[in-house]
Amino acid sequence: MPPDTIFGKIVRGEIPADIVYQDDLVTAFRDIHPLTPIHILVVPNRAIPTLADVATDDEPVLGRMLRVAADLAAAEGISEKGYRVMINCREHGGQEIHHLHLHLLGGRRVGPMVARKG
Ligand code: 5GP
Repeated sequence: MPPDTIFGKIVRGEIPADIVYQDDLVTAFRDIHPLTPIHILVVPNRAIPTLADVATDDEPVLGRMLRVAADLAAAEGISEKGYRVMINCREHGGQEIHHLHLHLLGGRRVGPMVARKG
């Protein structure tokens, strides 16, 4: 079992979060420090630490994460203008919470995909 994280506690309802969607495989909630007007995190209910840890059995949950992100973008009214979906993986990817999550970012032009090196 991977170590528990704050996202595991949110999935189980042990700590508060602004949950916008939950089903048998995934939970979606608003990021506590939004980078864009719409910033939602979609996480698997079962803790997978990083994208590098996914296995063949995880394909259904990965598909669900993307489909839910697209549905939430439509529900939030950002589908027509567009948005970005992003997954940070481990140290070089800038991942802080080791419970797999995708970021749904939109509501304004999101900007360059990667900042230029200092
Ligand atoms: P990462 O850098 O791991 O890809 O992204 C982690 C994200 O989780 C960050 O955008 C951060 O603002 C968000 N976050 C960290 N702690 C909490 C929390 O307790 N609640 C919520 N809703 N978001 C959090």
